[in-house]
Amino acid sequence: MNAKILTKENLLSFVQNLIKTGEVVGVTKKDGKFAFDHLKRASDLVLDYDVTLLPPKKYVMPQRETLIKFNVKPEVKVEAVVEATPFTLIGVHPYDLKAINQLDRLFEENHVDTNYMKRREQATIIAVTPTRASKWSFWSSMNSIFVETGFDLLLTDIGGRYAVEIGTAHGDELLKKHAKFEEAAPADIEKLESIRSALPKMCSADRKINALTHEMTAILEIHRKSELWEKRAEKCYSCGSCNLICPTCYCFDVKEEIDLNLKDGSRYRVWDGCLLEDFAKIGSGENFREKRADRFRHRFFRKWSYLAAKLTEPACVGCGRCSSVCLPDIADPVKVINELKEEK
Ligand code: SF4
Ligand code: SF4
Repeated sequence: MNAKILTKENLLSFVQNLIKTGEVVGVTKKDGKFAFDHLKRASDLVLDYDVTLLPPKKYVMPQRETLIKFNVKPEVKVEAVVEATPFTLIGVHPYDLKAINQLDRLFEENHVDTNYMKRREQATIIAVTPTRASKWSFWSSMNSIFVETGFDLLLTDIGGRYAVEIGTAHGDELLKKHAKFEEAAPADIEKLESIRSALPKMCSADRKINALTHEMTAILEIHRKSELWEKRAEKCYSCGSCNLICPTCYCFDVKEEIDLNLKDGSRYRVWDGCLLEDFAKIGSGENFREKRADRFRHRFFRKWSYLAAKLTEPACVGCGRCSSVCLPDIADPVKVINELKEEK
């Protein structure tokens, strides 16, 4: 293993240099919670967090994004819009990076999503190894502890100093240009390896899905007609929070608006979610998933079956955000899959 070492002071200077030269987004603390936000000072960056409120997905797939601008007078003009400028994302945990890697694959296949891909090309990602897990996390069950790709640099706190692994030539260049570092000594690598080997036990013991990832799809398929879907969905508010908070959910709705001058307008997309009542409603008024139980079940099948077939792994990284935001406490994948497994 090859790594560089940054002291905490040198890491701060590195981040400050990045802020001086471009847009930097990092994890900050807000009212005792953590959120990705634009960094004005390196000292605002927090790397020893458990989980952020929203995943960093919003920087590669904004909640609202203009796709086309048009005007109809004096003549019809249509212009494609791609809102993408360079930025650096610091402090991404491996499970959130795995989610971005999945989105990359999904937006790239068949019809390439130019807006997503251009924005993604502009992103420099500096990932960080978690030092703690939220009480809802189950990333150990979802093979989301380690990522090999997707990051330019990967930081690991090895006790007062950071080990930096280089993921891309761009990351290497960035480090050489903006940071003061030294080569890792054998003792540093040993420390890094011991931290890494302890990671699978970081999620709490009761946050474990009692099945291997490839078995989870079969568990769902066997119990497609289980009463669990109906029973849990009875308490569902159809608020869509479990979708909107999720790092792997990428459904969107496309809308148009015309300015008050009745000449100019735009087409934009906004996040959508399959738990929302109108998600599967079409122009004629027909709703393909009118019942809450159908929508509730669909979310699980979408992630653990339909997308799992495309990605060869479930589209869930075990961040636990859906469980933490669900007021009636019904959305938790750990409870749902373990309960289904116990069913006859
Ligand atoms: S389904 Fe829940 S736990 Fe899985 S990635 Fe989405 S928010 Fe995280
Ligand atoms: S499962 Fe929970 S978070 Fe999801 S829509 Fe229903 S009530 Fe909202």
